[in-house]
Amino acid sequence: MRPLPLAAAVAAFVVLAAPSAAPAAEGSTTRFAVHAAHFVDVKAGVLRGPAWVVVSGDTVESVESSAPAGLAVTELGGATLLPGLIDCHTHQSARPGIGPMEGLKSPAARNAITGVNNVRATLEAGFTTCRDVGGGELVDVSLRNAINEGEIPGPRMQVATWALSMTGGHGDDRNQVDYHWENDLATGVADGVDECRKKVRFDVQQGADLIKILATGGVLSANDDPRHTGYTQEELNAICDEAHRLGRNVAAHCHGKEGMIWASNAGVRSIEHGSYMDAEAAAVLKKNGTWYVPTLYVLEPLLAPGNPLKFTEQSLEKARMVRGHMHDAFRTALKTGVKIAFGTDAGVFPHGTQVKEFKIYTDLGMTPMQAIQTATTSAAELMSWSGKVGVVAKGSFADMVAVSGDPLKDITELERVKWVMKGGKVYKDELKR
Ligand SMILES: [Zn+2]
Repeated sequence: MRPLPLAAAVAAFVVLAAPSAAPAAEGSTTRFAVHAAHFVDVKAGVLRGPAWVVVSGDTVESVESSAPAGLAVTELGGATLLPGLIDCHTHQSARPGIGPMEGLKSPAARNAITGVNNVRATLEAGFTTCRDVGGGELVDVSLRNAINEGEIPGPRMQVATWALSMTGGHGDDRNQVDYHWENDLATGVADGVDECRKKVRFDVQQGADLIKILATGGVLSANDDPRHTGYTQEELNAICDEAHRLGRNVAAHCHGKEGMIWASNAGVRSIEHGSYMDAEAAAVLKKNGTWYVPTLYVLEPLLAPGNPLKFTEQSLEKARMVRGHMHDAFRTALKTGVKIAFGTDAGVFPHGTQVKEFKIYTDLGMTPMQAIQTATTSAAELMSWSGKVGVVAKGSFADMVAVSGDPLKDITELERVKWVMKGGKVYKDELKR
């Protein structure tokens, strides 16, 4: 729920990277087919009989209902095949369980080492695509680039670099300490219209695919209130104007209702968390076409007995306060018809375990198919990557996962993804055939 703390001293030298307008391609031209007895067609919203997915290189050529002639077949037997999953709210450079002060002292190189393990765990859990909505020190940019260059296994990533925060807001790490250090560009702190515009330009220069802003206070930051607004309407309008001018979407961390409405009216693409969304706020999001990324599972490990993630009592108190509202917000959004995309805040808790988010969505009223669509077609639409990810169809990347059972009967099948392919390459195979 907070961006990674910044160790300001190590951020001086950075490698510039071109923003990735489209997901990166992988480059082989081998043709083969993947066969499974069942196939979740997320676009049509139905479970289909046997399917043969014809793959050419890293791309899906076609989906057939009978065996294509003359092709090698990757046999998945009685398994159920789905598109690779998408998590729209992760922090891949975060190291869970170290507490805020150790986090503040953790240098970029250390976070990068953790990040390599995090992106692999994310991929092996079934997430072939993710958004990283706030890291520091460009670890997120480096992870994205190393994955795209085939150096390490991990999901396709859109990254936000530094999340914009007002002074004293959810992303101002000076809240944590009793001394003051000079602000510079290598943090997300920006106040006033001019500084906000400049910070958006800086993030884009440094490789941001999207802009993340902290439009209300947060839970895991010190001395702020999740219900308070984090930016004025003028600042939010300027941030969105600048981001859109540079071809970037804006994701807004929001707990409080007022900040959520302001951010939606400013034109952000998504509201993250949305804890205090009521009928009035939901109606605004629906009218503006703003996405809602719920992040509900995070509260379970956060409030687990014994405080395993080592957060401060003040943060735990705030977590207990918002917990009572987040499930109501989800039900209200679902009833109102707000667009919902899957997101978890993985990084606050261990990467790979965010698969437990699905069950909460069905417990709160979604059908299993709707829950799967939040992490496939809907997440892809939120990321402006429709047709390339979140679907297995002609022209999409060959990003697929398989489970042993039927996830439409038991959504927790997605907690046990047995087989993962990304860009035509198998990264995990634990299927019994
Ligand atoms: Zn977060």
